[in-house]
Amino acid sequence: MERQVPFTGHLVFIGFGSIARATLPLLLRQDHVVVKQITVIAPVIDQNIWFKERGIRFVRKALTRQTYAQTLDRVVKRGDFIVNLSVEVSSLELMAYAFEKGALYLDTCVEPWAGGYDDPHLDLSHRTNYALRYQVLDLQKRLGKGPTAVVAHGANPGLITHLLKAGLVELAMQLKQPLPQQRGGVDWARLCMDMRIKVIHFAERDSQRSQRPKEDDEFVNTWSVEGLISEGSQPAELGWGTHERTWPSAARRHRFGSRNAIYLERPSASVLIKTWTPVGGPCLGLMITHHETASTADLLTVKEQRKLVYRPTLHYAYHPCNDAWLSVHELIGRGWKPQARQRILNGEIDPGGVDALGVLLMGHDMNAYWFGSVLSIDEARALVPFNNATSLQVAAGVMAGIVWAIEHPDRGIVEPEQMDYERVLDVARPYLGTLVGKRTDWTPTGALHKASGDAAADDWQFEHFTRF
Ligand code: NAD
Repeated sequence: MERQVPFTGHLVFIGFGSIARATLPLLLRQDHVVVKQITVIAPVIDQNIWFKERGIRFVRKALTRQTYAQTLDRVVKRGDFIVNLSVEVSSLELMAYAFEKGALYLDTCVEPWAGGYDDPHLDLSHRTNYALRYQVLDLQKRLGKGPTAVVAHGANPGLITHLLKAGLVELAMQLKQPLPQQRGGVDWARLCMDMRIKVIHFAERDSQRSQRPKEDDEFVNTWSVEGLISEGSQPAELGWGTHERTWPSAARRHRFGSRNAIYLERPSASVLIKTWTPVGGPCLGLMITHHETASTADLLTVKEQRKLVYRPTLHYAYHPCNDAWLSVHELIGRGWKPQARQRILNGEIDPGGVDALGVLLMGHDMNAYWFGSVLSIDEARALVPFNNATSLQVAAGVMAGIVWAIEHPDRGIVEPEQMDYERVLDVARPYLGTLVGKRTDWTPTGALHKASGDAAADDWQFEHFTRF
């Protein structure tokens, strides 16, 4: 044990789905914080013997816009920690509630109340993660300093920002590139610009599968089905790079905020994107929208005298497990009407599958470099019960975020970009399998790697990633 921070409060989990079940046993076995009392609030609580035997208290209740404060008031006190791992419960309202109460808070995404992701009263721009993030930034300004609320901190969004920084440092070492400094540490945007990175994918490939294939009218995934359908129905989003020469036909700009990211008038699960991971090499991913698209677009933008000088194109490129791919096809085919049944794969997963989650840094002198976590189902099972490879990467992010918040209890609302990436990765590291850094000659056009610079910019245009 390296160091242990005192925490005498009560941990209150909202939701008891795949990620809560994955995180609770991890929290109970780690050494960073002593966890004394845990309560779980969720509308459905099944198979809870293992958890009950470990002293976890369950409250069977759904939080609603009208009654959430009443429900939480019975459980949450000053100095406690609310961990929101539910779907359809407003992150903003819970964050504001935690602040008023003097409690710490962590969330793995910015979730609206039920119906918020596809509210017909909102235009497309206001249904994006960019817009949800601006609601958080407004609340952050309004509340100021206070109890720490870590927002969007699972695996991605969450750990992926810390892996991005670690990957940039690894690449800089290989390119013998000095790390430019600014107040508070490395200037990540200038580092990317100095290395002439043109595109960054948060590139994930999930190769977990089970003997029991997906059936018709069934959505199968390795984590929340509702979560994937929600974000897959939001418009696709990307940080828009300064090297881009062609404006995508379906792309639109926002009319508010920093405008570092744009969106496509297409549901994000319907946008296919060529990408690369060390598991199987090149593949097709889905351009699922995520919080980190907008938050890292801010982190990696260089402006001089308020003029935009540099930004890479960046977004998520997700090859979910094969059965989730088929489920997405089926969902789109039936006009986005959700399947009658859902199945989250866990105990039935065959040995050998992995989740590879990392950053693909493209367009620099080494062509492309992937850095991230490759965790197998076998490693995940051996480490922590109730986990598959995907859930353990998320649980490791949640646990590391909780530890960081307890160590820094008075920061107000923080995004992963404002946290200390080395400390967070240090805490999460034992649960991330192998950290892999791998160079590749792959380009989306199939062209051989050219020298970096303007000539190479041609190879890394967004249109090549979407042309098949
Ligand atoms: P899940 O679908 O397995 O479980 C959702 C849980 O929320 C269930 O226990 C459900 O009963 C509960 N719930 C639903 N309505 C509720 C309400 N009104 N009040 C209280 N609880 C309610 O989801 P999961 O896979 O455990 O994911 C949980 C959250 O984490 C989702 O929002 C998901 O998008 C997010 N997530 C983030 C990451 C990341 O890396 N950042 C990864 C996976 C999941």
